[in-house]
Amino acid sequence: MPRRQFLLDEDQIPTRWYNIVADMKEPPPPPLNPATKEPIGPEALAPIFPMEIIKQEVSPERFIDIPEEVRDIYKIWRPTPLYRATRLEKALDTPAKIYYKYEGTNPSGSHKPNTAIAQAYYNKKEGTRRISTETGAGQWGSALSMACKIFGMECTVYMVRVSFDQKPYRKILMQTFGAEVFASPSNHTEYGRKVLAEDPDCPGSLGIAISEAIEDAATHDDVKYSLGSVLNHVCLHQTVIGEEVRQQMEMAGEFPDIVIGCCGGGSNFAGFAFPFMRDKLTGAKPDLRFIGAEPASCPSITEGRYEYDFGDTAGMTPLMKMKTLGHDFVPPSIHAGGLRYHGMSPIISALYEQGFMEAQSATQKEIFDAGVEFAHNEGILPAPESNHAIAVARREAIKCKEAGQSKVICFNLSGHGMLDLSAYDAYNSGSMG
Ligand SMILES: *Cc1c(COP(=O)(O)O)cnc(C)c1O
Repeated sequence: MPRRQFLLDEDQIPTRWYNIVADMKEPPPPPLNPATKEPIGPEALAPIFPMEIIKQEVSPERFIDIPEEVRDIYKIWRPTPLYRATRLEKALDTPAKIYYKYEGTNPSGSHKPNTAIAQAYYNKKEGTRRISTETGAGQWGSALSMACKIFGMECTVYMVRVSFDQKPYRKILMQTFGAEVFASPSNHTEYGRKVLAEDPDCPGSLGIAISEAIEDAATHDDVKYSLGSVLNHVCLHQTVIGEEVRQQMEMAGEFPDIVIGCCGGGSNFAGFAFPFMRDKLTGAKPDLRFIGAEPASCPSITEGRYEYDFGDTAGMTPLMKMKTLGHDFVPPSIHAGGLRYHGMSPIISALYEQGFMEAQSATQKEIFDAGVEFAHNEGILPAPESNHAIAVARREAIKCKEAGQSKVICFNLSGHGMLDLSAYDAYNSGSMG
């Protein structure tokens, strides 16, 4: 029987994050000031982010040391396991070898604490009293609530109203970690009041919640804002995932042929894939393939335009050059709440435009079929977001079967679905749209 588990010891948690920008011949174009269309300087971001985060956002350094205190907190749940999906391979009757990294082994159930801990650390060091943020389904809000509690800071979360009403469990998790949670649009910000005046029943969106959280930080001195995806420093912090996987694949005696991750704002894909993409950018592994998996109903990479756009709905953020469906795009209410974002990480967008990666979209029906089949065979109930990566891995494994090829397919299982049971309930009862 082939080995299934590839586990690292806590002293093998990486000591450095990898900054892919250092190896890109054409780094992503800089963010612009919407008023002047000139590149924005670090001082423009200072009211909402701590200085060390701003430095990381624009850093040209290839590796950035993970502070010892952050590494120590990572030990609460890291290193995370890499598994070979032997049972799924058998069920698919494929000669492909399928490996998955499991990031669902912490209380918030996803990869998001990897950056939440780091961001909370830098905020604490620079004297922040409270952090404001947005959350969709609640994974990011719960990760940041946990991080703020660990560092003794307050946390305010603007949660998209549909999720606030329909998905109470992560709200309870956030409140248990001491956060203050508002349904967004809320009457706690000027922007929220404006939206509510126009549409009292507005279901909210990630873009609206971001606008509210930024306004909160910008209008209070000792309050900073924190974003759970998209930005360069978030992708940077997530590379702790891929740096672990490199060691684990070495234990397995393999190197991937195909690397897959689901993409909302792009951070778990980036964190998993960039440490391997280094080998493609330097020319060491020219045939290595990378695939971003996204919902057919919010297809920013496969169908978005590559242009400067706002990160939020109100237009408060700098303009970022990215694959985007437009900042006023309101995605349909699919169950993969974490993938309902109109834009994409500027680094991922540039790598896609430069031909270093591919993308595929999948329907809600296909991804739940694939996720349930995965659960039957591998015994983990995946997050609906992660089901997109599983569906694409499945497609590639079936292609291997048809071609009689034994490729090595690796994907990131970004989180578990134990707080998304209402989505599985809809799937089981046949009422999923
Ligand atoms: C938030 C989330 C995502 C999407 O965010 P990215 O920044 O694209 O990684 C994917 N999977 C899970 C489980 C999430 O919580």
